[in-house]
Amino acid sequence: MMRTHTCGELRKSDVGKEVMLCGWVHKIRTHGALTFIDIKDRYGITQVTIQETPKTLSKESVIQITGTVKEKPEENKALETGAIELEGTNLKIISEAKPLPLDENATEETRLKYRYLDIRNSIMNNLLFRSKVTAFLKQHFMKEDFVDIETPLLMKSTPEGARDYVVPSRLHKGSFYALPQSPQLYKQILMVAGVDKYVQFAKCLRDEDLRADRQPEHTQIDFEMSFVTQKDVQTFVERTMKQLFKELLDKDLEDFEVFSYEESMKRFGTDKPDIRFGLELQDVTELVKDLDFKVFSKAQMVNCIYVGEDFSRKNIDEYTSFVKTHHAKGLAFVKVESQTFQSGVAKFIPQETAKKILEQLQVQGDGTIFFVADTKKISQSALGHLRNKLAKDLDIIDTNEFKFCWVNDFPLFEYDEELNQWKPEHHMFSMPKEEFVDTFEKEPQQVKGDLWDLVLNGWEMGSGSIRISDPHLQERIMNFVGFDKEQAKEQFGFLLEAYNYGGPVHGGMGIGLDRLVALILGFEDIRQVIAFPKNKSAQSPLDNSPSPINEEQKKELGLR
Ligand code: ASP
Repeated sequence: MMRTHTCGELRKSDVGKEVMLCGWVHKIRTHGALTFIDIKDRYGITQVTIQETPKTLSKESVIQITGTVKEKPEENKALETGAIELEGTNLKIISEAKPLPLDENATEETRLKYRYLDIRNSIMNNLLFRSKVTAFLKQHFMKEDFVDIETPLLMKSTPEGARDYVVPSRLHKGSFYALPQSPQLYKQILMVAGVDKYVQFAKCLRDEDLRADRQPEHTQIDFEMSFVTQKDVQTFVERTMKQLFKELLDKDLEDFEVFSYEESMKRFGTDKPDIRFGLELQDVTELVKDLDFKVFSKAQMVNCIYVGEDFSRKNIDEYTSFVKTHHAKGLAFVKVESQTFQSGVAKFIPQETAKKILEQLQVQGDGTIFFVADTKKISQSALGHLRNKLAKDLDIIDTNEFKFCWVNDFPLFEYDEELNQWKPEHHMFSMPKEEFVDTFEKEPQQVKGDLWDLVLNGWEMGSGSIRISDPHLQERIMNFVGFDKEQAKEQFGFLLEAYNYGGPVHGGMGIGLDRLVALILGFEDIRQVIAFPKNKSAQSPLDNSPSPINEEQKKELGLR
């Protein structure tokens, strides 16, 4: 036996016991003949006093200490073990640590290279919490009769909107496996197999240009259910999240609000609305369409936001540059003073129009109104981004709040200008709403899907849909998004064929586990909850991957 207790375990009731602890030197300080050591492990910290210490004992070294538990004259309330201290009689150095290569100036590269040190000293609690979330969810899914099934990592490429990572086959030179962007096709086939309820905590790999909040691999709570409607899937997820928050955080979540995609875009300027605060967008296109002010009257759409604040010229310039980074041509504003418009574009807006705008916005006090006049898409989205920024700047978000919502009825297709081609908004396995099934090819921009997102505090947590289980409809959709008959057969023949042998109606979701855990812990960066994340260029400074392979390996794989 190397230890009798962990470093977080000893309490007053242990006073008098002979114990043995193992851990890392957290702090060390000498006071006359006495040395004070804080010894740590993932369970906590215990304070130790010892008469003789080896001269070389450095911080972060691993030690084993034997001694007697004593009551502390004055309790250290900051530590769970704070009522006691260990009077050490014997100290053994198990492994000596060099000075750590990390300080507050360390670059991200260095931090990731020595990730294990950050795990030891700061990331640990995040990983412990993540493990609790996973354990709770796995148990919950079992209670709800789901079957946990692993699907292959080496598979055929599944286009889900991102580039695949590919793996060359040694036995079949010139052929490649793809790593899954998600287990989408397998889970669909499992429904044909009769599994009824499937779940997997699945690694999903996507070779994308990384944005700050993305990782080439992420984990999804991936599940699928047979004989369900959208409502059934959403009810299940809502119940799951409510229980998770109750169990782990003792928080009672409110019922999830539900928006259609259209409504979400209209009110919040985004399909991932943060509903912890107001500042909703107002569409005033109709009120300004006849003004002698071309910026407004010629625009496809004019949206605005009222804020009960007076902003400096400098603030307004900053917000103007901000909306421009979101493709708006500009930002117009007026100041509201005693129910009239002043400065900014006030001179172009007659008093009676101003009155109508104030009425629509239900403005009582003074403040500022920001307008973006542009195409519908830009007016909504630029102002949506500004809405989030204003809320942050004005500090009106309650960061202890968790507000989930559903965004339903997503468009099924989006137009890819570069490819000149309609593409699936999400993936091509989602059902069009019934009324569009016969005619989707004719008016693709109108088509809504049985396709939805789960959103938490302004972040997309996951997407789901009812799937196409009719092979003929699936083929039509494939053709429409650019796979001709041959290609569809070549790429997805196995899926299409499966539905010829009895395919149930089914639907499901993939919910981002990393994002969920990060948001609960208050992080915007999912790397805080991933043990070994990649850097922003998709590299791992820890093991230096990706790295070249040797000539021998290349030859075996038939690569040049
Ligand atoms: N496979 C989808 C995704 O990765 C999720 C789903 O539709 O179930 O986003």
